[in-house]
Amino acid sequence: MQRFATTCEAIAATTKKLQKTGLVAEYLRSRTADEAAVSAVFLSGRPFPVWEETTLQVGGRSLWGMVAELADKEQGELTASYRRLGDLGAVAGDLLPQRSGQGLGVLEVEALFRQIAAARGAAAKTEIVRELLSQATPLEAKYIVKIMTGDLRIGLRESLVEEAIAKAYGSTPAEVQRANMLLGDIGETVRLAARGRLSEARMRLFHPLGFMLASPVESTEEGLSYFAEAAVEDKYDGIRAQAHVSEGEVRIFSRTRDEITESFPELPPALAGLPQDAILDGEIVAWEYPARLEAAQAVVDEPASEDGEANADSLGRARPFSVLQQRLGRRKVSDKMLRENPVAYLVFDVLYADGALMIEKTLRDRSIVLDSLLAAPRDATHHRGHRGAQGNLAFETDEEARIDAGIIRAPVFRATSAEELEQLFVAARARGNEGLMIKDLESAYSPGKRGKSWLKMKRELATLDVVVTAVEYGHGKRIGVLSDYTFAVWDGDRLVNIGKAYSGLTDAEIAEMTKWFLEHTIEDQGFLRVVEPKVVLEVAFNNMMRSDRHESGYALRFPRIVRLRPDKSAEDADTIEGAREIYEQQE
Ligand code: AMP
Repeated sequence: MQRFATTCEAIAATTKKLQKTGLVAEYLRSRTADEAAVSAVFLSGRPFPVWEETTLQVGGRSLWGMVAELADKEQGELTASYRRLGDLGAVAGDLLPQRSGQGLGVLEVEALFRQIAAARGAAAKTEIVRELLSQATPLEAKYIVKIMTGDLRIGLRESLVEEAIAKAYGSTPAEVQRANMLLGDIGETVRLAARGRLSEARMRLFHPLGFMLASPVESTEEGLSYFAEAAVEDKYDGIRAQAHVSEGEVRIFSRTRDEITESFPELPPALAGLPQDAILDGEIVAWEYPARLEAAQAVVDEPASEDGEANADSLGRARPFSVLQQRLGRRKVSDKMLRENPVAYLVFDVLYADGALMIEKTLRDRSIVLDSLLAAPRDATHHRGHRGAQGNLAFETDEEARIDAGIIRAPVFRATSAEELEQLFVAARARGNEGLMIKDLESAYSPGKRGKSWLKMKRELATLDVVVTAVEYGHGKRIGVLSDYTFAVWDGDRLVNIGKAYSGLTDAEIAEMTKWFLEHTIEDQGFLRVVEPKVVLEVAFNNMMRSDRHESGYALRFPRIVRLRPDKSAEDADTIEGAREIYEQQE
């Protein structure tokens, strides 16, 4: 681990990408395949590979306490060091004592991480963290803590680690990228690369793939400016979900690649009946069905109309995100909740079907596969309505399933002119959706990439997704709760504050956030608490100004919290470049 840590120090010391990848490559080559595999996972800032459900479950506060205890320092000294260095890992490196006999291998560190993850209860976990940090040298501890908090901050994105693997083992970055995307495990990718067997990487069901992302457009003209033929869909306001289905087993993953199947128990039975193994991409939305089952049955027996729009309206409609929010993060969903807050899975893409990966096919071809997949009879015991290519509605007949679980093929429209796009936009908004998604029919599915093949069009003033960095107690009736949030955007791999907002969340949300922030405080300054930068908010504002009040150099006028974004992780938040674009556009 010492060699790992000194390599990280050298990587942090240069801004040149070539030097960074060179350092990583040299380090990987000097290790055994097992060590290199574990190191690659650590270098991407994680204790465990992406696809694994394992998490350490050690909060910032308890780590802070452990560093204070082992360093035998007063809180004040720790706080001063934190102010100077900016992250807890660096504080550990600065203050933990050097003793003879310290030093751990990366494989030992990984084994202890696994023990922490497996330990039940805070006390048991703390014991192992103590063992881990006291056996490590201060420099090792610095990087162990950074990995534990999920943030290396050495300017190394996973794509650079991929490049370094290519360099280390003599393959191309594209080969490494493809294998890593298919496996969702950079450690496994290293093992294959080391043996020259990257081409053997196969997609593994139940290991989530990255999600393809969209770029914003500001006008209907811009929406049609990047490609020749556009498929247009409503932009649903729910949460992104990737469903893996194989031989009756179903698992659903969120955008952060966490498993969320338990929160939506109505979906697996509906998906299990698909005629083939498949991976689907779509949005889970709180859904108002077109009356209840009987009425829906009558609707779905009509022939599919030529007019996609009329068809879309007859499928039912999305309910606001706040309704869906009540379903999120639940382990146990009551029957009442299932009845009163039903969801639908609006499926818009297929990544794998019938034993073959679909992502390299064009959207045009994937759409055909998806249509036939959802149109095919799923299971003789399931009664199903058929809507043709524009939308499928599946309902189950057994009493249990009268909760209206639905797998709906997201309706697809065409637009060839700005006027047509405008009309579709107005219709989408009238259906209660956020706006439109405009997709290049000739494009492949690029996991984890934000490009110009998928565009998103929302009308309202721009919003920013920001990360909460510090919180304060409110005033008046909010005196006892942490309701004032300072938030930041990314500047490279640093978060820079851009604003502060007071309102927008419900009392229940504020109460829940207060609890979370108290448990995840890194530094208590009395009136203000610096918190772990994990919570993502969507904020709206009237305009943006240049200002030196915040580190970003910008300030927001009348910022307000639109909503919490539990579906996004801190890395998904906006960047300073995004903020600058908004600033420049308003001039
Ligand atoms: P945003 O969260 O504002 O970056 O917008 C992109 C998100 O819109 C995606 O990640 C999806 O969760 C969501 N979305 C809603 N409807 C669609 C759709 N028809 N196609 C793709 N993404 C969609």
